[in-house]
Amino acid sequence: MSKGVLLVFSGPSGCGKGTVLKEFFAQGGNAFLSVSATTRQPRPGEENGVHYFFMSKEEFASKLEQDEILEHATYCGNFYGTPRGPVYERLERGENVILEIEVQGALQIREKCPEAVLVFVLPPSLAELRRRLVERNTENEEVVNRRLEQAAGEIETARQYDYMIVNDSIQDAVDELNTILKAEKLKTQNRMNIIDEVLDYDA
Ligand code: 5GP
Repeated sequence: MSKGVLLVFSGPSGCGKGTVLKEFFAQGGNAFLSVSATTRQPRPGEENGVHYFFMSKEEFASKLEQDEILEHATYCGNFYGTPRGPVYERLERGENVILEIEVQGALQIREKCPEAVLVFVLPPSLAELRRRLVERNTENEEVVNRRLEQAAGEIETARQYDYMIVNDSIQDAVDELNTILKAEKLKTQNRMNIIDEVLDYDA
């Protein structure tokens, strides 16, 4: 059986990557979305174990020490990290795994898992990004400004990614994500088993 695709999905806060993923899964998207650990406070409506594993800084540090975290980063004063176990279990089972993580974490994944595919979601412009962040109304003005400053730096990092999606239209972005997954599945390195199967046939 071929292994699943490990796909990193990054983009500045407010670029709509969460919405794109939600729509991707609503349309039957074929992947497992990794649930991250974080030390930030839950937003209204966010559930522990569904959106994030919410935990104290001490708990996060202990998981790091026990090597249970595949990659991690500090973002706007909080820790975020990917629990290692579920990612490898799913990949081994042939499932695609999506990590919705920021750029520092993405570059750690590139080092640790060179086969990972890095996808960056861009907003149409910084002005549009501000509008979306303000409209979302989940952060105060100071946090919005901090996230916008952070965004400009993150967008520079997009140059190091394998694919870019400009999130003008949610449906186009979902279609592009599906196209990337399909193309990656067709790569020779992900289909070596087929060569053996074909050669195994007694002509
Ligand atoms: P938010 O607080 O808006 O949920 O997330 C802030 C940023 O942290 C987003 O860019 C999000 O993609 C990123 N993030 C969420 N989980 C992880 C993680 O496990 N690792 C890393 N490196 N970034 C994460």
